[in-house]
Amino acid sequence: MTYDCIVIGGGPAGLFAAYNAAINRNSVLLLEKNDRCGKKLDITGKGRCNLTNACTREEFLNNVIANPRFLMSAISRFSSEDTVAFFESLGVATKVERGNRVFPQSDCAHDVTSALVDACKTVGVEIKQKKVTSLCVSGNAIVGVRCFNETIAAKNVILACGGASYPKTGSDGGGHRLARAVGHTITEIRPSLVPLVSPDRLCRDLMGLSLRNVGISFYGKGKKPIYEELGEMMFTHFGVTGPVILSASAHLQGSYPCEMLIDLKPALDEKTLDKRLLRDFAEIPNKALKNAFNALMPSKLIDPFIRLTGISPETKLNSLTKEQRARIVSLMKAIPVQITGTRPIDEAIVTGGGVDCREIDPKTMQSKLVSGLFFAGEVMDVDAYTGGFNLQIAFSTAFVAGSSV
Ligand SMILES: Cc1cc2nc3c(=O)[nH]c(=O)nc-3n(C[C@H](O)[C@H](O)[C@H](O)COP(=O)(O)OP(=O)(O)OC[C@H]3O[C@@H](n4cnc5c(N)ncnc54)[C@H](O)[C@@H]3O)c2cc1C
Repeated sequence: MTYDCIVIGGGPAGLFAAYNAAINRNSVLLLEKNDRCGKKLDITGKGRCNLTNACTREEFLNNVIANPRFLMSAISRFSSEDTVAFFESLGVATKVERGNRVFPQSDCAHDVTSALVDACKTVGVEIKQKKVTSLCVSGNAIVGVRCFNETIAAKNVILACGGASYPKTGSDGGGHRLARAVGHTITEIRPSLVPLVSPDRLCRDLMGLSLRNVGISFYGKGKKPIYEELGEMMFTHFGVTGPVILSASAHLQGSYPCEMLIDLKPALDEKTLDKRLLRDFAEIPNKALKNAFNALMPSKLIDPFIRLTGISPETKLNSLTKEQRARIVSLMKAIPVQITGTRPIDEAIVTGGGVDCREIDPKTMQSKLVSGLFFAGEVMDVDAYTGGFNLQIAFSTAFVAGSSV
């Protein structure tokens, strides 16, 4: 039998592409090498699945790191509103949280996966557990796929194998190898949205501590910051992580080693902060420095912070010199952390790089090199910040690819 369409990969992009190909009366076979679809989808959003972001198209594209122009058409044709409406139609009620992040009301990512798999089955998609080992091309047209010794014929193939991060979920860069073997260029593969490594004792001392509403800036050799942002970060045994750190990692490529500065009081300039300290310290003049910061920073941070100032924690507040207070102020505005690099791609939320978008038609997601070959999701050189943008990219590109076969 020759299928109208074979979809390689049962992640969000593959499942949604298969669904859209099948509702157009195509015979569709979805091949997933794992024993179940959506292994990565099940762990998204810490198991809650931030499935899209309820923002405008412009805001959406501002949150795309690689190739936003390429995605413009796909995002217009299948928007975050369409994603919400689609899942609501499948019985997955949704809710919007801080930063327009959309989650299933059940807070259960597996509900999203099950709904997608069931929707595929309802429209007749055949799902089989098989690993695709190569694409079959005749002339410059796709004719099927090979799974080790077996050849399966198809008029169209949608490659939706994901990137190279979290390889235990199945996306191990295999999709890039399949595309490269038929002539596609793969841009440099790198971890994007990945925790950062620091050798500093401070990180280990503060392991597990989250800081909210802090200002983070990164400096290389120059005086201008490479990246600066407000948000939430966390210390770990290896360095730092959290939303603002993951976003920063997408901008820091090639900038290591660099210095990160944490501003504990981004809303106050140094002068205002100094006035506040003077006022606070004047209320408890006979107390020791170690008792002066309870209202200013989390308790876990107080001892390591005082160590950084180099001032004895027993110093009475009424005997602090102007210089010592200035050191406290400047450290509160800029705690330094040395950054030496990133954690490996295995720990990255998304993969930077992938199939070169210049070789793909953005209106159909069809390869410009091999007719009948389409792409969807993270296998392409597209990635965005956290906030539901990456899953929306998977759904939008899958909609276009699935509707185009
Ligand atoms: C921990 C974590 C949390 C995340 N949280 C969020 C979030 O909350 N919101 C968000 O928007 N994004 C999130 N992401 C990113 C998001 O999960 C991915 O961008 C998205 O899953 C990409 O979808 P995809 O279908 O392209 O690829 P994948 O989900 O990686 O699926 C690819 C599938 O293809 C299969 N496959 C690969 N090669 C073959 C082959 N040769 N033959 C057969 N099958 C094959 C794989 O087994 C896999 O099932 C998160 C990522 C991680 C790692």
